Amino acid sequence: MTQSERLIRREVLRADIVKLEGELAALREEEARLLQDCEHHYADGRNASTGGRVRICAICGRVLKQRDDKLWG
Ligand SMILES: [Zn+2]
Repeated sequence: MTQSERLIRREVLRADIVKLEGELAALREEEARLLQDCEHHYADGRNASTGGRVRICAICGRVLKQRDDKLWG
């Protein structure tokens, strides 16, 4: 492999790295979003979130993200 071939190969690898890092960031974001919510419900079908300003699932204890979070900054 010549030096110029190495430099070309390096550019190809760098492009792949950037692309894969982007995909990885998207996957991590999706993973984080999945953990923000749960679908627990009481036996009567109501959502099991409880609490005041901060809603917490009564079943798994997860802190639930409010839909209107953005309105309150
Ligand atoms: Zn839950």
